[in-house]
Amino acid sequence: MDWNEILIRYGEISLKGRNRNQFVRKLRSNIKNALRDIGSIQIRAERDRMFLQTEKQEEMKEVIERLPSIFGIQSFSPVAQCEATLDSIKQKAIEVIGSGETVGCTFKVEIKRADKSFPYVTSELQQEIGGHVLRHFPELVVQMKKPDILLLVDIREEGAFLTAKVYKGAGGMPVGSNGHSLLMLSGGIDSPVAGYLMMKRGVSIDAIHFASPPYTSELAQRKVMDLAEKLCSFGASVRLHVIPFTELQQAVVQQVPDNLSMTTTRRMMMQVADRVRAEIGAMAIITGESLGQVASQTLESLTAINEVTSTPILRPLIAMDKLEIIDIAQRIDTYDISIRPYEDCCTIFTPSNPKTKPKIEKVNRYESYFDFEPLIQQAVNERTVIEAAELRVKEEGFMNLL
Ligand code: ATP
Ligand code: MG
Repeated sequence: MDWNEILIRYGEISLKGRNRNQFVRKLRSNIKNALRDIGSIQIRAERDRMFLQTEKQEEMKEVIERLPSIFGIQSFSPVAQCEATLDSIKQKAIEVIGSGETVGCTFKVEIKRADKSFPYVTSELQQEIGGHVLRHFPELVVQMKKPDILLLVDIREEGAFLTAKVYKGAGGMPVGSNGHSLLMLSGGIDSPVAGYLMMKRGVSIDAIHFASPPYTSELAQRKVMDLAEKLCSFGASVRLHVIPFTELQQAVVQQVPDNLSMTTTRRMMMQVADRVRAEIGAMAIITGESLGQVASQTLESLTAINEVTSTPILRPLIAMDKLEIIDIAQRIDTYDISIRPYEDCCTIFTPSNPKTKPKIEKVNRYESYFDFEPLIQQAVNERTVIEAAELRVKEEGFMNLL
């Protein structure tokens, strides 16, 4: 089956009134970006939909495979074009319906006519085309409400346009249409999911990772690079900032009693992250925290962590169960990377009995006995920035980048 173009529907973004133009522009450039290695792509944007054309027919297939992961698309349909004559339309209708499954399916024809000069009334057309299709596919059953196959025939001056199959899009909003944030990306299951969910709401991201060599290995770092790379497949590219965290972490362990060191470690991470955020001009920090999951994720702990900054901290997983999070991780293909068994900096220094209800006054008192400031700034300054393109470099010796 040869398709002439793909019709892309926006859904949510078409509701956004004043911001619509910006959203449409962003969506269009994200689509172009995601398909940039596929020959030349033409996109024509209308008020509430877009039409995409490829140069070669075989490129259509690849486009259809990639569109479902681009945020901001509600659904899309391949479109076949023919001459606006009854005979051509009937013939094309058979091709279009025949390109998909028909057994056990319900069916309906809908006609849209921009070209009022077309010499039939709509009900006549519906009967002519519908009857023709049913003679070819006697297994189809006509159904007016929610048919499996809705054959849409759009008759315009330049020709007739037919669609039958509707592919589901990823929904959400185009990445980059809702600002930029910094994702705290560990090697765990949760934080990549948190990044994905915010991207779905249109937020573009940089990622920051805290590494404590030699306690954390090169393979742990590769894992985080692979996670960041995976996130790139949902829209705009993700840059990764790797923070050398060993010195700061050791200072915390020396200065703060065991049961509060987890809280202070988190507060140090947050301060480093906040400075990187300011440097790159991001507006918020995203974490994968989920209420009650571990000692550092009680309301008391979160309060103590929040105290070090007034920057908004977005926690999209806060109300989710672990199983729900795992479900998404599997769906977006980060789960298998996340469960690779390499140590994270936090697990290595985890005390045996961290306070689940840290007292802020106590935390502040212990932190005041030592000047953490120079170590915080040093961690920020000595970070390694890995561009999205470098995440893809897989050969041995990738550590040269770091
Ligand atoms: P995850 O599965 O995302 O690692 P977790 O359940 O292991 O989460 P924690 O280890 O308490 O929970 O981490 C909570 C959040 O803190 C993480 O979701 C992540 O956003 C951030 N975080 C933890 N460790 C790191 C790290 N090494 N680098 C960057 N961010 C981190
Ligand atoms: Mg973790």
